[in-house]
Amino acid sequence: MNQIHQSQTSKTNQDQIFLKINNSLSQFKKMARGHQKIQSQQKNAKRQADLKKGTDNKAAALVKLTVVCKTCKTQMPDPKTYKQHFINKHPKQDLPDELKEVEG
Ligand SMILES: [Zn+2]
Repeated sequence: MNQIHQSQTSKTNQDQIFLKINNSLSQFKKMARGHQKIQSQQKNAKRQADLKKGTDNKAAALVKLTVVCKTCKTQMPDPKTYKQHFINKHPKQDLPDELKEVEG
């Protein structure tokens, strides 16, 4: 303890100023890091909320199944899936006109 005290008191003003700057710099870095941490925590929280929303909206997801297969009446979320379904399940049938323009 004594040694540290001595070396501190023997420092020149310049050194002290440098120390001060260094201290506030490391303080600033700490703050910046803390801020980043908070930001990433907020991001995480948002993601968690979105995930929760996703599971809460199962009913809404069902509503999204708006594409119905002409042949077997299976409901699908999008035309792409419908096209895949049609090609796989009803290969002998002609592709419905609305699916001919669908990619995939
Ligand atoms: Zn079908």
